[in-house]
Amino acid sequence: MHMRKILERDKTVFGFEFFPPRTDREWDALTDRMQTFEALEPSIVSVTYGAGGSTRTKTHALVCHIAENTSLDPIPHITCVGHSKEEITTILQSYADAGIDNILSLRGDTPKNGIENSDFEHAADLVSFIREFPGASFGIGVAGFPEGHPETPNRLLQMEHLKAKVDCGVDWICSQLFFDNASFYDWIERCELAGITTPTFAGIMPITSIAGMRRMAELAGGANFPAKLQRRLYRFQEDADAVAKIGTSWAAEQCADLLDNQVRGIHFFTMNKSTATEDIYSSLGVSSGSKLRNSH
Ligand SMILES: Cc1cc2nc3c(=O)[nH]c(=O)nc-3n(C[C@H](O)[C@H](O)[C@H](O)COP(=O)(O)OP(=O)(O)OC[C@H]3O[C@@H](n4cnc5c(N)ncnc54)[C@H](O)[C@@H]3O)c2cc1C
Repeated sequence: MHMRKILERDKTVFGFEFFPPRTDREWDALTDRMQTFEALEPSIVSVTYGAGGSTRTKTHALVCHIAENTSLDPIPHITCVGHSKEEITTILQSYADAGIDNILSLRGDTPKNGIENSDFEHAADLVSFIREFPGASFGIGVAGFPEGHPETPNRLLQMEHLKAKVDCGVDWICSQLFFDNASFYDWIERCELAGITTPTFAGIMPITSIAGMRRMAELAGGANFPAKLQRRLYRFQEDADAVAKIGTSWAAEQCADLLDNQVRGIHFFTMNKSTATEDIYSSLGVSSGSKLRNSH
């Protein structure tokens, strides 16, 4: 369903992010788990893309598998770095042929040795290209960074870049993960000051291990890990179960507070696991998504 219609239907859009499994065993584990995700009734699910095209066929295969075999509504991520216009056209056409309605449009992280042979410099270029694609009228989402993007330390300039990207024709923004809701609310206010009123979803990633937290800090450069959260996690760092419970309960508190503040959407970075998301739903008092989606 086109994101505009999803936004009309759901007061709060719930989404789950998956990544394409690397091995057959991981593929089987994820596809077996799909029923559990379906029972949680998210509005959408999204599938990541390896910048430069490293997961191109796997992303496409997982998106099509979900569309054909489940009740879930999959949204592929596409990163444009290192791609030609012809390659992106082929990818878009394959999704149009598969009946996919929405695309999360990203630049991807620039490889350390720089970009070569890329027809696209920034995500905004991809948004414009998708808007002009003659084969389908996709809903288009983009990324936003409440705690800043490492490449643009000037936050006023970064907001100008986000505004320019949104003005290319964007239907929703999904935020980078964050652990401090105050920074998300402040960012929404700053977006409004910049004239950005696009529906914005909060990216939530429960910490389930100390090693996982360190990986997140690396991948989501600039994300703040509040002292109170770190203190809670390190207090029981020898106990893996306790760490997972603490990380999940922190994310659940974030979600309850986001709902209280009428957030337009919550996108869970699931890492292909369902337990943390199930626990968060249950702590919000529900076992499935339809009630959540229609209440604040
Ligand atoms: C929800 C979400 C999903 C993601 N999914 C994936 C994924 O599937 N695969 C993947 O590889 N990565 C993914 N990423 C990571 C993302 O690709 C990187 O963070 C990347 O560095 C930025 O992507 P972007 O789309 O925001 O790029 P852009 O919007 O192009 O921004 C990148 C940087 O360029 C700056 N900039 C923008 N326009 C200009 C301009 N005109 N002049 C100068 N500077 C400019 C911006 O301020 C920013 O610092 C995801 C991130 C998020 C938040």
